Amino acid sequence: MSSNKSILIIGGTVVNVSGEVLADVMIDQGVVQEVGPNISAKYAAENEGGPRRIDATSCVVTSAFVDLHTHLRENGRVESETIEKGSRAAVLGGYGAVVAMPNTEPAQDSVAVVEFVRMQGERAGLVDVVPSACITVNRAGLQLSPFHSLAQNGVTLYTDDGNGVQDPVIMRRAMEYAKELNITLMQHCEVSRLTEGAVMHEGCCSSHLGLPGWPSIAEVLMLQRDLELVRETGAKMHFLHLSTARSVELVRQAKNEGLPVTAEVTPHHFSLTDEKLSGFNTVFKVNPPLRTMEDV
Ligand SMILES: [Zn+2]
Ligand SMILES: [Zn+2]
Repeated sequence: MSSNKSILIIGGTVVNVSGEVLADVMIDQGVVQEVGPNISAKYAAENEGGPRRIDATSCVVTSAFVDLHTHLRENGRVESETIEKGSRAAVLGGYGAVVAMPNTEPAQDSVAVVEFVRMQGERAGLVDVVPSACITVNRAGLQLSPFHSLAQNGVTLYTDDGNGVQDPVIMRRAMEYAKELNITLMQHCEVSRLTEGAVMHEGCCSSHLGLPGWPSIAEVLMLQRDLELVRETGAKMHFLHLSTARSVELVRQAKNEGLPVTAEVTPHHFSLTDEKLSGFNTVFKVNPPLRTMEDV
């Protein structure tokens, strides 16, 4: 049965849509043939022409992850990261696909730049690098990116990440196009007037430290506006790195109402609080800022 190309992954915790189970996985010619407890007994040993065996005891065995939010920084800031280096990190971490955020220099607001990112991803050849594109030209919030030509070239995700789209007129128009083109918009929820000069969550800690605060409401207001725009336009919307308890409540409510919205949170926002800043360690200075235990 088994050819030279077959692999048997033994004793791992298999995680799939039906949950977690302790099982072996038989792969032949790159296709999963069988998943089940102790199936390894059926196959010949490796030195007798059987499948290659991999001991996965105390490991998780699952299909590759997809990262919807990766900053690869190429073009423009290759000293921070390149597509090739980012791809290596992704594949080592178990990811099979990453969505490249468009806050590069130049920004991913044209077919040419998007194609460059895709091409660099293919050149690295390790994971699927899926370029997103900007909602507005150069992420400046003033003029919509060429949605039609970008969509025709296969771009399905649009965001000005790093910035929120401030102007409700622009955002409403973007959603009308998004609905028509069946593309998804991703919002970095931050009303910039409310976060000018801010460096950490606005609360007791920022008062103690005497640092300018970044209020939760800066996130919540934009989220609420966009949820109403989704309700009006029917556009699909994904909310990036939400950080407040109220945001989670609002998204949950919107989903229950059947609005086409999704959201993400980051590991640091569900594990750390603003108290980490008390030692002035800038490692904990992030956007959006670490919030309170109540939000965690
Ligand atoms: Zn980001
Ligand atoms: Zn962001």
